[in-house]
Amino acid sequence: MPSRPLFLDRDGVINQRLRGDYVRHPDEFVFEENALAALRLLAGWFCPIVVVTNQAGIDKGLMTHDDVRAVHEKMLAETERAGGRIDAVYYCPHRPDEGCSCRKPAPGMAHQAQRDFPYIAFRDAWMVGDSLSDMQMGHALGMRTALILGKDEDADALEHFPVTGRFASLWAFAGYCQAKLFQNFPA
Ligand SMILES: [Mg+2]
Ligand SMILES: [Zn+2]
Repeated sequence: MPSRPLFLDRDGVINQRLRGDYVRHPDEFVFEENALAALRLLAGWFCPIVVVTNQAGIDKGLMTHDDVRAVHEKMLAETERAGGRIDAVYYCPHRPDEGCSCRKPAPGMAHQAQRDFPYIAFRDAWMVGDSLSDMQMGHALGMRTALILGKDEDADALEHFPVTGRFASLWAFAGYCQAKLFQNFPA
């Protein structure tokens, strides 16, 4: 059976996004409603599950690598405690003007995941995110794309973007996957 890789954006998907700001401290990392339950369900269907997140606040000098790592330790610990699974976390610390190859929509973090998990085939993967850049990265790599609604800043640009599905939350996406399982998902 082919593996089904799952790429997850972080802010606005797993945790509540801080509009115009960065999650700099574990106390500011608040899971979206039912996100932990969704991660528990998704763990049964997808492997690997990897988080890919732009965190330009690091190179803007607003937070440190250690700050971001502390936030991710909380995310991983709470996910595990809830019966879920996140197999790897990749973050881009660069500002947009640095022109790096890892800031979404650039595919660098997905390619890094593929180096770490060589069995990943993008055509079998889903990218779940709330930003245009998430959908652009997934689409360019031939993934299925799930747009989590709610990021008003990108709504106009996303209105006609060819995503596979639009969902109110990660929990709603998990429900969709559950329904598809009874129809030979992911055919
Ligand atoms: Mg996001
Ligand atoms: Zn980068």
